[in-house]
Amino acid sequence: MLQLEVSGLLPLACQRCLEAVPFDLDVDSLLELVPAGAELSQDELEDDTRDFLPVERELDVVELVEDEILLALPVAPRHEKCGLPGAADAGERINPFAKLSGLKGKPN
Ligand SMILES: [Zn+2]
Repeated sequence: MLQLEVSGLLPLACQRCLEAVPFDLDVDSLLELVPAGAELSQDELEDDTRDFLPVERELDVVELVEDEILLALPVAPRHEKCGLPGAADAGERINPFAKLSGLKGKPN
């Protein structure tokens, strides 16, 4: 077994306003080392509580840590509340979905 813990505060780019959005990274993985090419049973593969890590002669720890961090990052980080760049002084904002919400629930 190999326990991997990584934590820290990462500045990610907000996908809406492109400013930095802090992300509290907290990775805590327990990996079961198995020989590369080892056959795992279907039950083992479907068990979500276990993580298997095939290992050849040497384990590239930096690559492993990098992969675990990438898996933990949100796909599209965003602030809870923010606007598009330049939207603040663009006057009244037009919501393209406002019309759609009026149609909700109506029969065709
Ligand atoms: Zn933002």
